[in-house]
Amino acid sequence: MSHYRIKCRKCRTVLKETYCAFCEHCADALLITEYAEKFLPEQDMDGIWRFNWLPVHLPELAQPGPVVYKSSGLAGMLGLDDLYVAFNGYWPEKGAHITTCTFKEFEAAVVIENAHGNGIEGMVVASAGNTARAFAHLSSVTGFPVVIIVPKMCLFEMWYLEGSMNVPTLALEDGDYSDAIDLARRISVDLGYPFEGGVKNIAKRDGLGIVLLEAVSKIGKLPDSYFQAVGSGTGAIAVWEMSERFLLDGRFGWKAPVLHLAQNLPFAPMVKAWQNGSRRLAKEDLNPKLIEQITTRVISTRYPAYSVQGGVYDALLATGGRMYGMENDEVFSAMDLFEEAEGVDIVPAAGVAVAALQKAVKENHVDKKDTILLNITGGGEKGLRQEMTTKRVKPVFISKEITDKAIEDLKCRILKTG
Ligand SMILES: [Zn+2]
Repeated sequence: MSHYRIKCRKCRTVLKETYCAFCEHCADALLITEYAEKFLPEQDMDGIWRFNWLPVHLPELAQPGPVVYKSSGLAGMLGLDDLYVAFNGYWPEKGAHITTCTFKEFEAAVVIENAHGNGIEGMVVASAGNTARAFAHLSSVTGFPVVIIVPKMCLFEMWYLEGSMNVPTLALEDGDYSDAIDLARRISVDLGYPFEGGVKNIAKRDGLGIVLLEAVSKIGKLPDSYFQAVGSGTGAIAVWEMSERFLLDGRFGWKAPVLHLAQNLPFAPMVKAWQNGSRRLAKEDLNPKLIEQITTRVISTRYPAYSVQGGVYDALLATGGRMYGMENDEVFSAMDLFEEAEGVDIVPAAGVAVAALQKAVKENHVDKKDTILLNITGGGEKGLRQEMTTKRVKPVFISKEITDKAIEDLKCRILKTG
């Protein structure tokens, strides 16, 4: 008996299989996981596996989780009474032990354990940076084979932990994150490993939703408002889905947190669509040239899960949410502010979320007394580098015009080195 089942958002069909990381039902809707039991975290267990709302039966990997704490520094500066920080990264003095310094490590852990438990033998992952590092790390820790594809434009800000350097990584010379996804699909067919599935993979979303599981177990209730920077939107959708599970549970509040989601201007297709009241992203807002002008390329996908049923548009609509577009200089000053206030460095994407929180306070979109959860999606890189060796990624370069014959040759190379 499985403790969960998978259901289609659109037609409500319950799937016969409990493994469906890469399949679709209705093409324009997301599948979601339904858990049989109420929220029952194991009190005497550490890490993410103490949560019963994860699609994994017998995890083998030890995986630390987020640290959620009540802020005094930043809360004081912003005049907020009940601000909680979900810190995802490396900050051992605070109990945070995520050595890849990103919340994507929860996604990778749940996806790999979910796939492994269902007989999947390997996986192809497309990433703009953080997801690559997380999967590479957990592939090297678990021995689960992963092939990673990243756009070359993201390489300059990409690093791996020393132990991940043998994980096969391909860099796309002539394309962005979206082209990397297209190529990942092509290569996955040849390699016989499935593509990780992006937002469609229920394990990916439930893994990112761990941030809310940890927050609710710490705070004892759902927050009123939730702040996060979004690229594909997968993390925000995950938090909304988890909040719906909490509402059904009934013991943690009667209203889902209002989603306050932010992007880095000028590449902010979801901000622009939402402000126009549109479920469709405008083509001119997806121009790759705009990506070159932002600080946070890790949140630069041109294929966000916005329009799909159960996606970001629906999540914003359901929660009375709001979107914020933040300029590069606002992002940098928010990063400095956070470090000064809380005592730890954060990544630029997390700076986008902090900047959005500053703006929301200034424009009265939140109340001083609200319980607010701020998702710091990555941080602590400075401290990590003092203790561990990090390396620049050394990929094999390929073109999106790669022929099937060249993919075949690559496959031999990958399987030999992998
Ligand atoms: Zn359906």
